[in-house]
Amino acid sequence: MRRRSGPIRQCVGCYKVSSKSELIRFVTRGPSGVVFDERQTMPGRGFYLCPSRECFMAAPRNKRARGAISSSQAAQWLFHRVLDELAGSLREMLRGCGHAGRHTEGEGSSRVAGAVIVAGAAPGDVDLAPPDREPGPTAPVYTIPKDILGDRPMVVIDDKAPGFKALIRTVRLYERLCSGGRS
Ligand SMILES: [Zn+2]
Repeated sequence: MRRRSGPIRQCVGCYKVSSKSELIRFVTRGPSGVVFDERQTMPGRGFYLCPSRECFMAAPRNKRARGAISSSQAAQWLFHRVLDELAGSLREMLRGCGHAGRHTEGEGSSRVAGAVIVAGAAPGDVDLAPPDREPGPTAPVYTIPKDILGDRPMVVIDDKAPGFKALIRTVRLYERLCSGGRS
């Protein structure tokens, strides 16, 4: 069985093949330049890495990536650079998006959230039903560092919200990068 969504690409660190949207794309620029292509739309030659520190650290051993990531210091620098850029994007995306607190507040509300983004709780599924009712629908929970959510303990995102897919993709990449890339 193979789960596939859209095009697939190979990571130059671990050589595993994944869906392109789950990988981080870089475009090589100039003799030793590399640009993080967050939206995966930049023209030019590029390569992909898993959102994993290990894969970044393995990149200098790869022929295609070596020109752009020549040493473990360069790999380390790039890893932090990607984290910073994704954090910036997330802050931007979450600014006017979603609402804080429990999802099911209204009487008999059955609206299902697309996702819940929490500052610092354990990952897993969160129950969206009020405590005194039957267990309700669950939404995936993503945990990201506190400072990105500002003073909100959690943000509930409606899957109908504009940019929902891009936001979830960014959150997933960021969450994996923050955890060192173990998935
Ligand atoms: Zn990899």
